[in-house]
Amino acid sequence: TQFSDLGLSQPVLQALDLKGYTEPTPIQAQAIPPVLSGRDLMGIAQTGTGKTAAFMLPSIDRLREAENQTPFKSCRMLVLAPTRELAGQIAESAKDYGQLAGLKVHSIVGGTSVNKDRNKLHRGTDILVATPGRLLDLIDQKAFTLDKVEILVLDEADQMLDLGFIHALRRISQLVPEQRQTLFFSATMPSQIKELVGKYCRNPVTVSV
Ligand code: AMP
Repeated sequence: TQFSDLGLSQPVLQALDLKGYTEPTPIQAQAIPPVLSGRDLMGIAQTGTGKTAAFMLPSIDRLREAENQTPFKSCRMLVLAPTRELAGQIAESAKDYGQLAGLKVHSIVGGTSVNKDRNKLHRGTDILVATPGRLLDLIDQKAFTLDKVEILVLDEADQMLDLGFIHALRRISQLVPEQRQTLFFSATMPSQIKELVGKYCRNPVTVSV
């Protein structure tokens, strides 16, 4: 399989060319077509499999196609990650792939100035990568809403549970629009994760690598 066989747009294919990626990894080959078609996804995959691009590339094309404006004090795509380090890496990938498509990318994580985050997000963003705690702080301060989320990604969901984010995730699930696409990733599938997938996803395509 080639990236050009998966249905991705020219700007995204160009971004991949610049990155020097020649072939999709297995999770990318399996996940990109259903995500492009709007399906929810449950991906069972570890870090290092190329899962970030597997959700980021088709999501960028979905956002481009929908052509909605960058929403004030909200975002169109929300990616939740367990740690600052992972959130930072995801945001860097989003910038690499999204810039050619003209999408704004921001990340917010704990341990930095909340005021800076408030200012940063005042005009809204297309893609937001966040850790759950800091995101809820900003929502509680009325500095941000999840009203305009079109695509929700939970990355390393099992890690988020291990770090005690279950309550935060339940709250966030009630704040995002019902009409949305959800992409759920976990390295393991314990029963608590299955239950969360049931809450978050509608008839997801399951991909396991
Ligand atoms: P991830 O599993 O998303 O953390 O990605 C692991 C590493 O693989 C990252 O450094 C990516 O830049 C790289 N990568 C992702 N997809 C590809 C690909 N198709 N070809 C080569 N490298 C890739």
